[in-house]
This record gives sequence, structure tokens and C-alpha cells, in this order.
Amino acid sequence: MTTKTKQVPICGEHQILKEWREATFEYSDQGITIRVPGVYAWVCPEDSEASFLPDTVDELISTVRELYETAKRAKERRSELTEYLVSVG
Ligand SMILES: [Zn+2]
Repeated sequence: MTTKTKQVPICGEHQILKEWREATFEYSDQGITIRVPGVYAWVCPEDSEASFLPDTVDELISTVRELYETAKRAKERRSELTEYLVSVG
């Protein structure tokens, strides 16, 4: 499967074609932020807002949930640890 066979989505807000490039998947809840950089997504060149494919989200969400639980436990012990950065690949 190549990106050429996919239809390039248009940003509804800016009316421009999105770009297929690396972005940072971000999950935030109760003061804990999990960021996974280097994830391919459709990105609006105007405001860098990324639209992740459902397959990508499915793949990432279990990892992110585990990290979130770990972060939550860490937060209970040391409140200053509220941000985690994860690199995949
Ligand atoms: Zn946009």
C-alpha cells in the first residue's frame, strides 16, 4: 500500500491539501501528557494539526494507555513528573 493510492484529504478549516508526514501523537488527560513523535499522519501545513489514521490510533492507543497508567502511578508518588516522551521506530 502506498500513499499515492490514497486520496489526499483537505483541511476543512483552511481549504488546503494536507501533507503525509511525521507528526507527534498526543494524548492528554488529568494533567498527564503522553507524546509519541515520528508517527505518520495527514498534517495541515497551515496549523500543523495532524489527522491520524484509525489503524495508527488503534496501534498506538494500547501503548499510550499503558504509559498513561504508569505515569499516573508515578504522579501519585512524585507530582512533578507529568510529561512522558516516547519514540517509536
Ligand atoms: Zn488546516
